[in-house]
Amino acid sequence: MEKKEFNLNDIVEMKKQHPCGTNRWKIIRMGMDIRIKCEGCGHSVMLPRREFARKIKKILEKHEE
Ligand SMILES: [Zn+2]
Repeated sequence: MEKKEFNLNDIVEMKKQHPCGTNRWKIIRMGMDIRIKCEGCGHSVMLPRREFARKIKKILEKHEE
């Protein structure tokens, strides 16, 4: 299985969509914890990196340097 590589500012899809109906999240902070922001309503959540890696479904858009 392909390893999921994610970086700051990537847009990702999670296994569960946000209650607002959007399933597009932007990675706004990387570290021990990862903060993602819902592109639909602007709500942000922080997840431990391990949990984030388990809940991510796929990367929709890679941020280009
Ligand atoms: Zn939302």
